Amino acid sequence: MIDNFQKLAGNEHIKRGLEISSFGRHKITIIDSFDLKKYIEDAYVSIGGNLDNLTVIKPCPCGNLNNPSKMCNCSTARVTKYYYWSVIQEAFKDVHLVLETSAVRYKDIENTGKNYEDANSVLKRMKACMEEISILKINEHSNELLKKAVQMLGFTLNQYDIIVSVARTIARLDDAGETRCEHFSEAIQYQTSDILQGDFIRRCPNV
Ligand SMILES: [Zn+2]
Repeated sequence: MIDNFQKLAGNEHIKRGLEISSFGRHKITIIDSFDLKKYIEDAYVSIGGNLDNLTVIKPCPCGNLNNPSKMCNCSTARVTKYYYWSVIQEAFKDVHLVLETSAVRYKDIENTGKNYEDANSVLKRMKACMEEISILKINEHSNELLKKAVQMLGFTLNQYDIIVSVARTIARLDDAGETRCEHFSEAIQYQTSDILQGDFIRRCPNV
């Protein structure tokens, strides 16, 4: 039987984000254009996630933005206002990971869903990594990468702290022994949503 975690087949980046969030107790916000909220919440709980750390929001007031099979009727002003208020209303405040769902191909679920990792194996992996209690040191190359990213992408001090903490979680999940460039690169990706920069224009329909 396919479990809730496997039902997110085709949204591997979302599953990865949920695992990082659950493992490190990181706050995660997912922008969902494909009505996956229930699957996402169930999957998160099935791998030990606390729903207080998870926010799933619609991409726009009507919910259809970015969904190629549906029509979004929202005006630019409405979408901008929606994101403005979402930011104010905590969906994006101090969030550690921001992700967006992709369209699900039903053949992923029907045919190959069973080939994807289930919640139990994820839990087992997380448990094994949890026994490792040492604090991972940051290697020198990663420090350089982080410094450049902070300068180029204009991260705040708060975002810097968030990136370091998420990178450490990823390194622990990888059983890496130290926090390396690839862990920082991945953590940085979760902080680069245009919404976090206050840039909502790309999201507006007909712009
Ligand atoms: Zn809309």
